[in-house]
Amino acid sequence: MPSEAADFRADVLAIAAHRDDVEQTCGGTLLRMAARGLRTAILDLTQGEAGTRGTAAERAREAEEAARVLGVGWRQALDLPDGAVENTLENRMAIVRVLRLLRPRVVILPYWQARHPDHAIAATLGYEACFLSGLKKVDTGALPERSSSVGWNTRTEPHRPFKIVYASLYADVRPSFIVDITPFIEQRHLALMAYRSQYSNQSAGSALFVPEEEIRERAFAEARHYGLLAGVRYGEPFVQKEVGLVDDLTLVPVQSL
Ligand SMILES: [Zn+2]
Repeated sequence: MPSEAADFRADVLAIAAHRDDVEQTCGGTLLRMAARGLRTAILDLTQGEAGTRGTAAERAREAEEAARVLGVGWRQALDLPDGAVENTLENRMAIVRVLRLLRPRVVILPYWQARHPDHAIAATLGYEACFLSGLKKVDTGALPERSSSVGWNTRTEPHRPFKIVYASLYADVRPSFIVDITPFIEQRHLALMAYRSQYSNQSAGSALFVPEEEIRERAFAEARHYGLLAGVRYGEPFVQKEVGLVDDLTLVPVQSL
């Protein structure tokens, strides 16, 4: 797994609460960035032990496979409790270590309002970690290593990402911009389907889970909806807190009428 490479650096790092979140909210964007030659990475905050279907070990294997499908160069999961993600100093520092190791220019976080509390907390936890990561006096070297973090502490110089964007697919909010994922939608779907313990048709939790064909239809319909907002076929929505900056009005995309 390329996730072991200690010298890997990322241009774009997606942070999410659960394995399979990124595949649903910004997997097409990661594919698009990788196709542009950028180095992409994923940090999942939990290991999925609270899920109705499958074990954490199964989900780890599936997450690795999904990472390969998405073409990401690095993927790891922290061991925050699934269903009880909290914004604590220890958890912020665990993310700071990853930020200082990978040194991403762009960080993708979940949108800050969400039905699942883990998603909402991941947004503020991730934001605060990005801030702390840039502070010289925040010293990750002095903290004890986490058991699963071999090699994560080799780079401790401060690093503040340039840009944070929020993947807003799970939220009912008007996006700031859309990423055109039209050429990548099938590949993104393959990445989600790598989570066979979650999404293949089976009896465990069938009252709670929708059938595989329905998942495809929903995912494509949502991508089509966001694509239409931007005048493309399939898209993924993002929110940014900052305003946009324009150089040439004649080059601003998305037609008005
Ligand atoms: Zn989730």
